[in-house]
Amino acid sequence: MTHVTAGRHGLATLAAGVLLAGALLAAGPAAAQSKSAPAPAGGYEMHDGHFHLTNYIQEGTDIREFLKLMGNRVGRVALFGIPLQQMWAHENTGDFAPTYYLQTDAPLYYYSFTDAWIAMAYKSLSPAEQARFDPMITGFNPADMYAADHIRRVLKTFPGVFSGIGEFSIHKEFVSSKIAGETASLMNPALDRVLDFAGEVGLVVILHNDVDMPFPKAGQDPYLVPQLRDLLKRHPGTTVIWAHVGLGRVVQPVKGQLGMIERAAAAPELSHVYFDISWDQVAKYVISSPEATQATADLINRYPDRFLFGTDEVAPKDQVGYLKIYDMYAPLFAKLTPETKQKVLKGNYERLFDKARRDVRAWEKANL
Ligand SMILES: [Zn+2]
Repeated sequence: MTHVTAGRHGLATLAAGVLLAGALLAAGPAAAQSKSAPAPAGGYEMHDGHFHLTNYIQEGTDIREFLKLMGNRVGRVALFGIPLQQMWAHENTGDFAPTYYLQTDAPLYYYSFTDAWIAMAYKSLSPAEQARFDPMITGFNPADMYAADHIRRVLKTFPGVFSGIGEFSIHKEFVSSKIAGETASLMNPALDRVLDFAGEVGLVVILHNDVDMPFPKAGQDPYLVPQLRDLLKRHPGTTVIWAHVGLGRVVQPVKGQLGMIERAAAAPELSHVYFDISWDQVAKYVISSPEATQATADLINRYPDRFLFGTDEVAPKDQVGYLKIYDMYAPLFAKLTPETKQKVLKGNYERLFDKARRDVRAWEKANL
């Protein structure tokens, strides 16, 4: 999830992003056009592979207002809320009503109603408007062996709606430790059940897992990297988009991050894994120096099918705010080949989510 500010520096090394794969050329089944914004003659500029309609207190932008923000620039959007609700604990903050997890010490808890909220917002739209969204299921606790059952129940309650699950988080700076109940882990079989089920159904997975802890001591073992690698290797039949390639507000690129991503992109056993370059906190590393930008562009140009653009905006109020990361990335986009840029901005999204729509609808037909 996105949000601003300051991270301390940018190492020249960072980078990354990801996107889908793909072979098709530009096209994809045309996102049908909304009457609110006819598709421009030259096609939309981008699809948004990572977007939160609502915030940590389950409030946000009306979906019709959001269609206006997409306007004639953003074609399709992977749409979700936030699985966690920030509790307003009066004994902790008194009459101050926190709207963000950094404003209070009160816990966060899983708020499954988010999935119904997103589904009903989607269902309120016309078919042409619906064609511009790929709703995602997020309201489950990934430390619960019953999490997969929640996902199945949502599909059963709202058939014809969802394309994937996520963004959900396992290790996330300042968030994971605030969640009430058992702490999520990459080694928890509950997570394996979720990924197995997603693979069976054809649901695209958007997984947030930091690449390291927020403030590692010098030389500290970045133990999350092998844990994540092993998890992904256990689920070769599940399409997983690694959100923000593991970076965060203060979680910085681990040494050699670009090399690590390149090894992952090159590994045949990880060919089902994609990388999302959403979040202004990721962009800040990529554009921190001309060298960082060039090295990132070189990597994406070598693996054009594996990286996806996304905004990671939360409940935006205007188009300028919504698309500020697109503008931040201008130096990166300028260094991509035309073909790579098209795939990162649109082609990979279309390939992954078109397939998910087909597969999930077929699974629903056969199983529900
Ligand atoms: Zn996010």
